[in-house]
Amino acid sequence: MTEVLTNVKQNNTISRRNFLHLSAGMAAAVFASPALMKTANAAVISGERNISLYNIHTGEILKTVYWQDGHYIPEAMAQINHILRDRRNGEIEKMDKHLIDMLAELHHKVDGKQAFQVISGYRSPATNTSLRKASSKGGVAKKSLHMRGMAIDIRLPKVQLERLRKVASQMRRGGVGYYPRDGFIHVDVGRVRYWGQKV
Ligand SMILES: [Zn+2]
Repeated sequence: MTEVLTNVKQNNTISRRNFLHLSAGMAAAVFASPALMKTANAAVISGERNISLYNIHTGEILKTVYWQDGHYIPEAMAQINHILRDRRNGEIEKMDKHLIDMLAELHHKVDGKQAFQVISGYRSPATNTSLRKASSKGGVAKKSLHMRGMAIDIRLPKVQLERLRKVASQMRRGGVGYYPRDGFIHVDVGRVRYWGQKV
């Protein structure tokens, strides 16, 4: 319960930040033509990077601006690390910033409206080992990038998994695995490679 309340409080902080931005934009717009107003709004957007994550196992939702005016926001990054923690033992790892940037860009490219549903984020070595033992098909790598905060398994409501796979693959930021039967794709910021799919 405490956790939920904390999240609400932090989300409010972020909302206030957005509100201040919008207010500044709106004040400037009073004297501006519609065309200039559009430019001003675009500048506000380009100065921020957003991420929306929904952890399907815990029900937690995080919508946050995690990068602004050239800087990653430590509080937002900490929230991201928290929502992507190892759900089996609660271990938290620092997620790779490139992975978060990749997700933000992917969301934008597919015109996502909802939060990414997160099936798996960080995995501690202990969790990875037990998943490997449980997986008869060998679907869990021994040196999984999930163990380094460099990988995530996701789906995005209202965006076909196949399309999400294709766009993620075209970005060429790392590995993309396609798991249509389980309804998710794996993306990581390791070596560029593909599996479970034709590219
Ligand atoms: Zn994965």
